[in-house]
Amino acid sequence: MSAEPAVEVTDLVVHHGTTAALRGVSLQVLPGEVLALLGPSGSGKSTLLHAVAGFLEPTSGVVRLGGRTVSGAGRPVPPERRDLAVVFQNYALWPHLTALDTVAYPARRRGESRAQARAEGRALLGRLHVAHLADRRPAELSGGEQQRVGLARALARRPAVYLFDEPTAHLDTHVRGVFLEELASRRRESGAAAVYATHDAEEALGLADRVALLDAGRLVQVGTPEQVYAQPVDAFAARLTGPASVIDAPDGSGELLVRLGWARLGGPLEGKVRGSWFRGPHTDHLVDTPLGELLIRESGGACRPVGERIRWTLLHGWSLPGHDGRG
Ligand code: ADP
Repeated sequence: MSAEPAVEVTDLVVHHGTTAALRGVSLQVLPGEVLALLGPSGSGKSTLLHAVAGFLEPTSGVVRLGGRTVSGAGRPVPPERRDLAVVFQNYALWPHLTALDTVAYPARRRGESRAQARAEGRALLGRLHVAHLADRRPAELSGGEQQRVGLARALARRPAVYLFDEPTAHLDTHVRGVFLEELASRRRESGAAAVYATHDAEEALGLADRVALLDAGRLVQVGTPEQVYAQPVDAFAARLTGPASVIDAPDGSGELLVRLGWARLGGPLEGKVRGSWFRGPHTDHLVDTPLGELLIRESGGACRPVGERIRWTLLHGWSLPGHDGRG
């Protein structure tokens, strides 16, 4: 395993025509690490992945893979020579190959026997629940099935870096779980890195070693899932990483972020129920308080009538900077 970052981008700027899709992004992904790119639609996640993959040339900035400059100095290294496995929404399968041939291909290229490569391919298709489609070509597969074959092909490669663009958008929860387990075991075995773009906070926090928050082509914060969830740098970062209320601090010192589990019913503070939603394992209450509107999650519980007076306790809060500061 190389000591160099698996992926390093420096001051990356990308324009699509007159749109600035990335406005100076710098980050590193270490060997064996999964970095989630979390941002709303249009924030530049796909553009960043495409620049790393070599599908587009940045306006300025440098892309390095394993210490080798692939964009930003001299002639760019083409995608097929970047040692990446890519799963993008619009990254087509080869139309003339069956699902099994597609998934067996990387092992054949590595020099494994045809029988061995096909056995591995079959096993991977089976794990992603598409073994019964092994002999079909892409035109005979639904969008979701093509995506699973694409994931199996990426897992069959043994690249230094995996790039994923919302790869689980069309997968059901079970297959998604299987895919993430497969990815984790491959990373442990080979030390491959992964960059994983998603707009789903729960997914990003659950799978990544570090999360990079992207807003309108800029990095807002990079940190561990715990850091970006519990200590967001501003209100945008707070909203992006999960449900949250922002209230006035009881001591008047500014604004306080309060996550769902950080306040509980009962205690010294006053409030009035504005809405109440039963969610099965817990019930969420939206409460009007003198400090602002607050969402409190009660374990178990039941809906309360609108207007009911309740009391509550603040267990924890995170002070947000006074101003968003990024316009
Ligand atoms: P995300 O993946 O986070 O949804 P994108 O990287 O796809 O964001 O897009 C970033 C910005 O660049 C958006 O404003 C988008 O409209 C624009 N954009 C992306 N691709 C193109 C393109 N091919 N031509 C013009 N604008 C584009």
